[in-house]
Amino acid sequence: IKNIAVLTSGGDAPGMNAGIRAVVRTGIYHGLNVFGIRHGYDGLVSGDIISMDAKSVANIIQRGGTILKTARSEEFKTYEGRKKAYENVKSLNIDALVVIGGDGTFTGAAKFIEEFDIPIIGMPGTIDNDLAGTDFTIGYDTAINTVVDAVDKIRDTAESHDRVFIIEVMGRDSGLIALRSGISTGAEAVLIPELEVDYDAIMKRLDKSRKNKSSRIIIVAEGDKEGGLVVADKIKSNFPNYDVRVSILGHIQRGGKPSCMDRVLASRLGVGAVEGLLEGRRGEMAGLISGNVTFTPFSKAIKHINKINTDLTRIVEILSL
Ligand code: ATP
Repeated sequence: IKNIAVLTSGGDAPGMNAGIRAVVRTGIYHGLNVFGIRHGYDGLVSGDIISMDAKSVANIIQRGGTILKTARSEEFKTYEGRKKAYENVKSLNIDALVVIGGDGTFTGAAKFIEEFDIPIIGMPGTIDNDLAGTDFTIGYDTAINTVVDAVDKIRDTAESHDRVFIIEVMGRDSGLIALRSGISTGAEAVLIPELEVDYDAIMKRLDKSRKNKSSRIIIVAEGDKEGGLVVADKIKSNFPNYDVRVSILGHIQRGGKPSCMDRVLASRLGVGAVEGLLEGRRGEMAGLISGNVTFTPFSKAIKHINKINTDLTRIVEILSL
């Protein structure tokens, strides 16, 4: 391997820049030429590929988003698109790729390897933390800290007006953003898609907690069957005298400067990804399991597994008295 390229794909996540920097600098450290592919797989298909050096990734570790841009590429989903992508790879003598993204990105990468002879290593870049093969994904820690900051602010106003706030957070089909941010903001309840919602228990908890608290906060994961507005309606119809408000946090959760944990994670996985390629690995995602860089085949990393630890759901219940 002499020439490698890196791209970011799917939804952006804070820490992707730290990952790009780590891939570029590790490549240079090992004497490789490194290219950057802009706009995810779209740039691979159209040939939007630039040469990267140590300087091109200076002063980006602290920046949110991705300097290489990201995209959802319809063309790469077709065989013709992937064929064009491979022709671009060959014309620049690129020997291997590092792709930073989520399950769609790895599904595409697995197909690309199957059809064309190109080693690819993945790095988990998504705020949702919904991939197997890593305890945490790049961007998750920053996103939950953003949620905690926003909920703390909402708590101030909720407390001043004795309100019940329903706060909807991101996470797609995963409740992991909701669960950890719920614990750390002292939410009275957390509703996640992985668990059946026991509305009777929630109503009782709300009623009981009224004695101890003037504000109550319920965090709802966006993937929950009901969604924040429906949950609010149910509470209002059960307690007509409650002042219930809804806040949907939205894309604020995807931005901002990456946390220390995300910068370290992205740096470790970037080094791991490039060194994995040099060891002859392909078709795997570099992840961190119990503090160690670990490689998991794409087919396993993209399987939707339930990463909810029931210890955490119990904590919400115990501490919300
Ligand atoms: P996030 O979880 O943050 O949304 P993601 O990687 O899952 O990230 P997607 O938009 O699902 O985001 O996938 C990224 C890109 O991967 C797609 O735009 C597409 O180009 C490619 N891709 C996804 N699924 C396939 C597939 N079945 N075959 C080929 N390419 C695919």
